[in-house]
Amino acid sequence: VTLPEGLDYFTGNRATVDSLRAAIALSRFPHSLILLGPRGAGKYTLALLLTMALECERQPRETAPDGRMLASFCGVCRNCTRIADSADLDAKIEEAVAAREEMRETDKKETRVLVQTHPDVLIVPPDPPQLLIKLGQIRTLIGRSQRLPVEAPAKVFLLTSAAFMKEAANSLLKVLEEPPPYVHILLMAENFGELLPTIRSRCAVAHLGALPVEEIAALLTERRPELNQAERELIARLSEGAAGRALGFNLVEYAAARADALTMLRNAEQNTGAQDHSTLFRMTETYRAGADGQAKTTALLRALASLLEDVLLLQGGAPQRVRNVDKRADLQRLADTIGFEWIEAAVRGLDAVQSGLRRNLLRSLSLDALAVELEGARR
Ligand SMILES: [Zn+2]
Repeated sequence: VTLPEGLDYFTGNRATVDSLRAAIALSRFPHSLILLGPRGAGKYTLALLLTMALECERQPRETAPDGRMLASFCGVCRNCTRIADSADLDAKIEEAVAAREEMRETDKKETRVLVQTHPDVLIVPPDPPQLLIKLGQIRTLIGRSQRLPVEAPAKVFLLTSAAFMKEAANSLLKVLEEPPPYVHILLMAENFGELLPTIRSRCAVAHLGALPVEEIAALLTERRPELNQAERELIARLSEGAAGRALGFNLVEYAAARADALTMLRNAEQNTGAQDHSTLFRMTETYRAGADGQAKTTALLRALASLLEDVLLLQGGAPQRVRNVDKRADLQRLADTIGFEWIEAAVRGLDAVQSGLRRNLLRSLSLDALAVELEGARR
């Protein structure tokens, strides 16, 4: 059995992670824990690793340099492998949504999206399409928390985006307040301030910081030896300090999306009023067909956002933080020619296309509209 990339060992944020592993080894792991960190910091990956360490049949231990015992996992027992099956969260959520689509109308309304690949581990993502954690999901969590674990030592609940919770939050409070001794609830969030004070006060907190570029590059040297040094440095910057993202980063796909994003930006930049749109529309045309159109469009929008952020960094006098280092010449030219208002308009346009995507509007239509809007904003 091989575990998915990033799930085979603990990496990064050593002090925080080791204290959590030590707590598991001492059976003092918090019953309610908030994992805080920016997008891609590895909150979900760490949550799964900690869950494996809590639930592993073999409960292996490692000794830290300071002599503490740290809980680990074997990665091969039935508990570890079933938990690891939830590693690709997006795919699991898609499966659950697809299963719900197949139901009768009346059942659909009652059915909430949950991910479960182990009987004692329940993963609660924001429920599509509104992307809020719903009361029904929390009721399920409460119901399950009242039953003893059946195949592993603990019942573990993972709330992947705990900030996206409205009226459901109040229902969660009681179980956060007095969790049964075998229950652990892990709440993931990007910012402490997004969580209700009533939730914050009932939980322990662990912070995950971004890893330095050098640390990620060193990890890539070890784990992805097929990459050359320039590629490693580029990925280290693009993954923004997130080890898991760096290890799984598809540079070929990203480069393709970014080339299209640059076409859009150049087109807007060079606009003289009598613009030949053929290159641009030939490009957006390729986003029209196919089931993977949505993923491709999302990749394009991310690349566009990342380029615009780099332009802002150059304009703001922070060139050392630029991520698309191999496109520095293009970025510098854009930074010299485009104004802040234009970038603001572009970012608003990006948001509009993204929300259009969520509502399933025609993809290429909204991309063309964005491209034209970018030109208009410049005039
Ligand atoms: Zn195991």
